[in-house]
Amino acid sequence: MLPHVTNYILNYYNLQTTIYILQTMHYLQKYKGKSTRHQCPACETNQSFTLYLNGDTHEPINTKVGKCNRETKCGYHYTPKQYFIDNQMSQSSSMSFKNVPSLQKSPIRVGQVGKIPFSYVQQSASYKSNFIRFLCEFLAVEQMKQVGENYALGATKSKEVIFWQIDITGKVRTGKIMQYNPTTGKRIKHQSGAIDWVHNKLKKSGVLPEDFNLQQCFFGEHLLKIYPEKSIAIVESEKSAIIASSLFPDLIWLAAGNLNGLSIEKCQVLKERDVTLYPDLGAYEKWSLKATEIKKQYNCNIILSNLLEVEATDIDREKGLDIADYIIAELSTKKTFPEIQKTFSPNLQSMIERNKALLVLINGLQLEET
Ligand SMILES: [Zn+2]
Repeated sequence: MLPHVTNYILNYYNLQTTIYILQTMHYLQKYKGKSTRHQCPACETNQSFTLYLNGDTHEPINTKVGKCNRETKCGYHYTPKQYFIDNQMSQSSSMSFKNVPSLQKSPIRVGQVGKIPFSYVQQSASYKSNFIRFLCEFLAVEQMKQVGENYALGATKSKEVIFWQIDITGKVRTGKIMQYNPTTGKRIKHQSGAIDWVHNKLKKSGVLPEDFNLQQCFFGEHLLKIYPEKSIAIVESEKSAIIASSLFPDLIWLAAGNLNGLSIEKCQVLKERDVTLYPDLGAYEKWSLKATEIKKQYNCNIILSNLLEVEATDIDREKGLDIADYIIAELSTKKTFPEIQKTFSPNLQSMIERNKALLVLINGLQLEET
């Protein structure tokens, strides 16, 4: 394990700024008669307390989150930021959702997309997951920083990674919580095979209502807004997206999440963009049909890569390898690599020297370093 990673705390400055611009901020409820002023939780004066409303749902954040208008006599002011810090995970005890007071529940409008406060993303930000530990084996610190910040990677107390799904408007839809073997980089599944989701944990602890309307988006979708000019590449797994993104940052790498993750609804955000799909082994047919559908619907320029279909051996096929597995598998074999034909930047060059399998990928994906 590399010590620099354990000591490094993610700097989310850029992402945060962007997300704040994308999101509507929380605000103090405007005065619209007596019903909008409440009893102060501190001095207990009636109609002296103004609640903070969620900038998106326009509902109270919590009955205690607000400001007393008796500023000098009482001075109670509980900000949304402080509330999320107090009640949710911190760097040292990330993802502990216990003791979080329930939100005032109000019926969710049909079709309203469920949203999780961004503070959960911030407070889970960490390099301490086993997934990151695995990546340390072959990524440089700078690359790690780059992907960590771009994708807002988080960690739980038990070193699971959190793959947040933040949509193109900056709304946090949910987070996928996954455990990896830090040595092999393989996923460690629950016995049931079920995936842990942040929205489920928040439902259990009463922070989100039971009827929270989950609508998943692409992993990495917020990057479409941050980098409007970049071309898009879509893979199936979050792990592949992260690894590919660290090697080819000139593209926006999105993960569909699973084989069926390329839904027409989700693909709205691809409108008028250049997109290449990199289906996993065995997914080519299915994604090919999807590509046709998406092209028709959204007027985007879609290319379907047959890289894995062409390159994979029968054994690879049996294992159902994805692009990430492909790179990693190459690392541990003594396969002959193509001669270095291109001139790469010193950074990439030194990466290639340490890991010649990268060349296979570079040649295979036919990507140019720009
Ligand atoms: Zn008061």
